[in-house]
Amino acid sequence: FEGMTLVELAKRTGKLVPTLQNILVNVGEKVDSEFDSLSIDVVELIAMEAGVNVRRQHSNEGAEIHPRPPVVTVMGHVDHGKTSLLDALRQTSVAAREAGGITQHLGAFVVAMPSGASITFLDTPGHAAFSAMRARGAAVTDIVVLVVAADDGVMPQTLEAISHAKAANVPIVVAINKCDKPAADPERVKFQLASEGLLLEDMGGDVQVVYVSALKKTGLDDLEEALLLQAEMMELKARVDGTAQAYVVEARLDRGRGPLTTAIVKAGTLVCGQIVVVGSQWGKIRAIRDISGKSMDKAKPAMPVEIEGLKGLPMAGDDIVVVESEERARMLSEGRKKKFEKDRLQRISEGREEAPEEQS
Ligand code: GDP
Ligand code: MG
Repeated sequence: FEGMTLVELAKRTGKLVPTLQNILVNVGEKVDSEFDSLSIDVVELIAMEAGVNVRRQHSNEGAEIHPRPPVVTVMGHVDHGKTSLLDALRQTSVAAREAGGITQHLGAFVVAMPSGASITFLDTPGHAAFSAMRARGAAVTDIVVLVVAADDGVMPQTLEAISHAKAANVPIVVAINKCDKPAADPERVKFQLASEGLLLEDMGGDVQVVYVSALKKTGLDDLEEALLLQAEMMELKARVDGTAQAYVVEARLDRGRGPLTTAIVKAGTLVCGQIVVVGSQWGKIRAIRDISGKSMDKAKPAMPVEIEGLKGLPMAGDDIVVVESEERARMLSEGRKKKFEKDRLQRISEGREEAPEEQS
């Protein structure tokens, strides 16, 4: 939508040019001619007022792209060990090492490998988080770790996780957990997964399977290696220079510092001092901290960071958009709030508003 003219926008939205011009005046913007190209922010403002959905697309054209670490989400049936596995992995993370083993829950953590490579784990297991992110168009997760308990085998939420990952086109690495248990039967689990259509590696497919015990902390290296191998095959890359495209992973309210947002940059670089619109919130970035709490002036792709300076709490999966002025930020945020409210009311009236899913 970047660079569209009023005439083109009229065509796309099915509205008349004068109608759009009125909206433009109402939102406090002006263009000299209906053939002038509009900035993406202005396009969004007009589209929202006209009741049309726009989704920002970021172009990497002409930019230099570099390899980036994978972002991983853990999914699986309740009690199969998602939380335990994340805890075990977190203890191998950079923050845990730097902070002497004590880490806060910030929505994400980074495991650095001896080779210099690293893996970013999203800290909220479960399908609700994954779906909520996806519903907002946030393709944050690159790889899903499917946790299956070796004694329990494939269960309903295992299948659900598989279908979520497939729908999102995100590859799976299987972690057969609780391998320490006497009743563990990994071969049975593999057979079950294969009959559900997962093409496992040692059956000629490309879905890797690793054997772990979150309790005894065994197999964690194998899991990390498998994730890096998967990432390598995917050739994950991102543009490092230029305006950031980022997503909210989690947000919380700190009494002293106000709203704190854990975010992951997908492309570009987020810089301290920039003005951002985040979902329907906005703010000026006052501080950026890495996951161990160290202050930084920039955030690069796949690096989870905590951002301070928003005026309100955004939601997981919200996009973070850098804009050029506070005035524009305020306007976009107000426009989005209005639109979200309108959409919500419409969903309720159509009986589509869903009760929030429970997390395990
Ligand atoms: P979640 O519901 O998937 O997050 O599962 P939890 O991590 O809460 O684990 C459920 C139960 O399984 C807890 O009692 C854990 O202590 C236990 N558990 C998790 N991983 C292992 C494991 O590797 N071996 C054994 N024996 N128990 C485990
Ligand atoms: Mg859990």
